Amino acid sequence: MKTAEIPNNRFVVFGSGRSGLAAAKLLKRHGASVAVADEKPVDPNSPAAVELAEADILLFSGESSSKAFEGRDVIVLSPGIPRYHPRVGRALSGGLRVIGEIELASAFVPEDSRVIAITGTNGKTTTTAWISHLLTQAGFDAPAVGNIGASWSESVDQPRTDPGNTIFVVETSSFQLESVEDLHPNIALLTNLAPDHLDRYSNYGEYVAAKKHILRNLTPDDAFLWNSDNTDSRTFFSTANTRTFCFSASGDTGMPGAFMSGDILCVRDENEVATELLGSDDLPLPGQHNLENALATALAATLAGAPIEAIREGLRTFRGVEHRIEFCGEKNGVRYYNDSKATNIDSLEKALKSFRAPVILIAGGRHKGTSYDVLKELVGERVKRVLAIGEAAQLMEESWSAVTSVVRARNMEDAVRQACATSESGDVVLLSPACSSYDMYNNYEERGRDFKARVQAVL
Ligand code: ADP
Repeated sequence: MKTAEIPNNRFVVFGSGRSGLAAAKLLKRHGASVAVADEKPVDPNSPAAVELAEADILLFSGESSSKAFEGRDVIVLSPGIPRYHPRVGRALSGGLRVIGEIELASAFVPEDSRVIAITGTNGKTTTTAWISHLLTQAGFDAPAVGNIGASWSESVDQPRTDPGNTIFVVETSSFQLESVEDLHPNIALLTNLAPDHLDRYSNYGEYVAAKKHILRNLTPDDAFLWNSDNTDSRTFFSTANTRTFCFSASGDTGMPGAFMSGDILCVRDENEVATELLGSDDLPLPGQHNLENALATALAATLAGAPIEAIREGLRTFRGVEHRIEFCGEKNGVRYYNDSKATNIDSLEKALKSFRAPVILIAGGRHKGTSYDVLKELVGERVKRVLAIGEAAQLMEESWSAVTSVVRARNMEDAVRQACATSESGDVVLLSPACSSYDMYNNYEERGRDFKARVQAVL
């Protein structure tokens, strides 16, 4: 969407969460007619309703939500709403235009600012935060926005002292990419691709097709970065009209991009000049998956023009993102890590493979349907004791008690207390639940904070 089109259209923002509110207020600031619709009833005294009333934006919620769509030209979707939502389907067949919140925000990017867009199945948030951290350290104005939690619409039109020095680092989900028209990243990065969200898409091809919208407006001056260790990414960019660069954590690809030479992270430019950055032991985050994230970060920063010394520094000094194998402290030689974002078996696998030290694992929560048997061998190899919590405790015990000791814990406090009491110097205590948190908490963030508070109490 172009900014010039904004005052001439009547908008309805669908969804009154953080991004929906930000999108509505952005539109209002720029002179558009806008209403907000939410199918769930919203209490008129809630902070969201008050914020909209103060901005003089009409909110239609619950049964009256359909009124918000009357007489409107464009629907702006909040990030969590897919295009196949029945309400959106009806609007599309009625001729309304449907765009996502990211697409709307992208209309306001100052002409001389740049955009790095990140998508992929795993590692989006970590890579987005890492690139933002590195570029900020390197002297750019490089806010991390989008799916990462800070809606782009909140900040995209704020005055910037030097727009030419601004690089928006935007995490995008497949839902947000579905509704792209004019979003034009200068650098587009695909962390990896694997079947996911098959509860939302009817097949894998549809999910991949949604992600492909990231390529839509790339030109030969832009760049597309992809993970050459990930087979599913290989065919992704066949339609991209741009320069492509790959990153690989498994060795030297011989191509321009980022790669490993033994244990050294390296980048190679388009003139075939390779530069050594640093050793993998100097990275602050553990695990092969974080090596991939670091290489992706280094490559994006190189192409954005960050100096080599700043890239080294930014790779070394990143502190990680909360709840993703987050270091929480050490006592008597025992290190404690919070990986509450590990809400599936795949992420538990990644976490276990990240440690060479013996692990005391706190796992469990609401079971999501996949058997824990697939990790039996790995758990047997790396985990000296499992403290099982929540509804999945019994299933974990059934899957793993033949290969390691599995003990029940009543709650997080009990689990951390038992972990502390039975650990020895050199061990790692890891919360990596492989389950959702909804049996005991409102979300994984709350679970992670509870773990950290219990850890602080024993340190
Ligand atoms: P996303 O934003 O794509 O969900 P996150 O950075 O929030 O990704 O990480 C989510 C989970 O996936 C964490 O438990 C983390 O350990 C794991 N993870 C992070 N990066 C990768 C990667 N490159 N490949 C596979 N798993 C990863």
